[in-house]
Amino acid sequence: MRTIGMALTLAVLPACAFARTHPGGGPKVKTYDADGRTPIGEIYGSLAGLAKKGRWKIETVFIDQELPIQVLFTKRKGPAVWVLAGIHGEEPAPPDAVHKSLGTLDALAAGKIPVVLFPLCNPAGYSKNWRYPDAEKYDEKNPGHSVGDSDHLLPGKDGRPRAEKASSAQADALTRKALELAKDYPPALSIDLHEDDLIGKGYLYSQGPKGHEDPAAKAIIRKMAELRYPIILSGKTRFDEPIVDGIVSGVQDGSIDELIASEEILAEGAARDGPSGRSVIVVETSAMRRPLKERVDVHCAILGMLEELYSLVVK
Ligand SMILES: [Zn+2]
Repeated sequence: MRTIGMALTLAVLPACAFARTHPGGGPKVKTYDADGRTPIGEIYGSLAGLAKKGRWKIETVFIDQELPIQVLFTKRKGPAVWVLAGIHGEEPAPPDAVHKSLGTLDALAAGKIPVVLFPLCNPAGYSKNWRYPDAEKYDEKNPGHSVGDSDHLLPGKDGRPRAEKASSAQADALTRKALELAKDYPPALSIDLHEDDLIGKGYLYSQGPKGHEDPAAKAIIRKMAELRYPIILSGKTRFDEPIVDGIVSGVQDGSIDELIASEEILAEGAARDGPSGRSVIVVETSAMRRPLKERVDVHCAILGMLEELYSLVVK
């Protein structure tokens, strides 16, 4: 009898005991949970809650393996704060921090600051703890493509796009939506949150015209230092990029951040005005041997600075 009872109990348990689903608000998709990241359905639920507030609109940019890539933006247009999170699916702290900071973002909107929010750019990757959405197709030699790849819109040395077409349907959809929104919501301040478990200390990229001197980037470095979060103040990144006072600038990496900072882009064979972001920052924190909560806290602290950072840029 005991055996039968066990079998019945197991039969009603989810297939994977640590894979959680959310009872309402979002797709019933299992989320990788060995690190305690927020279940994806809970993230969709809270985004739907924010979208119900009168100040916001929500759109689906792309449906990736049944999971919507969403963007939320305020009804109020104008020079905006942009926030991007979850480009890389094995970096849970940024989207979890955004999930916890929706009240902060709504307060910005209530304070009449236009906001564009890409809260979870790679939901398929997040749900599986994969850097790229379709990692199963790739191997070590060809590891796949970032959902933020923008090489198809950025000029190379010969003046032609660096890539003939978008590296994936996800990158095509995300970059199109970013360019479309940049017309009504020119990015005054863009913050793209990342973390890296191969680095012991964090740093920032500043892709905007002020580079190392960007006041918003400097303020974030000061905040990280104040929180005693480890930062590399000088030396090089693991990609051999020089770091000055915790900030890397002038990098042409084909990222969506380079696109957001670009004054000119190439689309359908013609040069066009780019989003021309004034302050475009990519945050890279260390995830090495650090509990998720601590990593989420530093990203929440940065999101808590958005009003101050925006005022440094829009004077
Ligand atoms: Zn990343």
